[in-house]
Order: sequence, then C-alpha cells, then structure tokens
Amino acid sequence: MIVMYRKMEEFTLEKIESKCNWDEGFAVSLDEITGVSEEVPPIKRYLSQMKDMYYDKIAVNDTLNQNDPLIYEFYALEAPVDGGDIAFGTSIVYPGQIGDEYFMTKGHFHSKKMTAEVYYCLRGNGYILIENEDGKQKSMEFRPGQAVYVPKGYAHRTVNVGSTPLVFFYSFRADAGHDYKSIERKGFRSILVSRNGPQIVPNPLLK
Ligand code: MN
Repeated sequence: MIVMYRKMEEFTLEKIESKCNWDEGFAVSLDEITGVSEEVPPIKRYLSQMKDMYYDKIAVNDTLNQNDPLIYEFYALEAPVDGGDIAFGTSIVYPGQIGDEYFMTKGHFHSKKMTAEVYYCLRGNGYILIENEDGKQKSMEFRPGQAVYVPKGYAHRTVNVGSTPLVFFYSFRADAGHDYKSIERKGFRSILVSRNGPQIVPNPLLK
C-alpha cells in the first residue's frame, strides 16, 4: 500500500469548500482502499472523547493511563443544510478493543429523525448496529461490497470486529443533522464484544 503524504497547505478547509460546488457539481477523491481523502480534512475521535460509552471502566482507565487511542476518523463532505442536497464521505474505524468491547463509532440518531442513510463497505470486517426508540434493533454484517440501508428513525453505530481498519462510504440527506446526545445518555441496547469471536450482548450500562 502506498501512503501519500501531503503538505498542510494543500489541505485546507477553504480549498475543499471552494472546490465543492453543490449547485453545479464536483468530483472529489476518497481512496477506495484506505478511505483517506487527499482533499478533505479528517475529523478524529479518540477514546477520551467517548470513554463513557464503553462498559468496562477499568479497561478505559487502564488504556487512558497509557495513551489515548484514535478509535475512528471520517472525511466528511458537508453539503448545504438543505433537504435536496446529499452529504457524504468516508469513515475509518480502527481495529482494537477496550476490554472485550470492540472499537466503534459513537453512534447517533439524526436530528431530523425520519431520515435514512446508506453505507457501503470498502474494506475490513464489522457490523452496523441499529435501533429505534421503540426498542426494535438489528445487527447487520458489514463487509467489503455490502451496502447497508439504515432506515429512518433508527440510531446507527459501526463496529470493527476485524484486525484491519474498517473502511466505508456513507451518504444521507444533507439537512438530517446529528443527535449524539440521546446515545451518550442512554447507550445502545446491545454491544459487540469479543468472547470466542464477536458476540452481541445486552449493554451492561443499561441495567
Ligand atoms: Mn447518520
């Protein structure tokens, strides 16, 4: 795999914003192997930013006493906040565990709850967990070549159960917005842990 480095000045928000002509069209590079964009600045999520989401508090503290691992990052093309536009980008969830719970995204509802999302897996091995406010939930395997439809009304989270980065493309209605707070308060009903392989178990934090 060739890793390309770039100078920071090739890589500014101003540059990508001037390139993205949401009214007249544009093309942007999102690497199909690494998920990395040479043009879009990444947004990074470290363990310290989501430590309350992992159930094993001893493992969280042990890890943070040594370092603050990068759990995931994403390259987001932020479309104008308009229901006629489509936001999209790539995400990379790194391999790893906090205790026996796999690295995962924070997960969220959309602020406009009745808006859906499409995910397409490029690399790696994972699951997408979804659940709605009525308690309906589902887990879907997420492997290269699989497209996953997250229906309107469902919170969604991506989990890497493999030993390599989980890389995927996503797109959703540009005015959907993100509600992380509901998940931060309540968590998902189920979590993914490594116990003789990936297992979906009830979230102990919700007892
Ligand atoms: Mn979403």
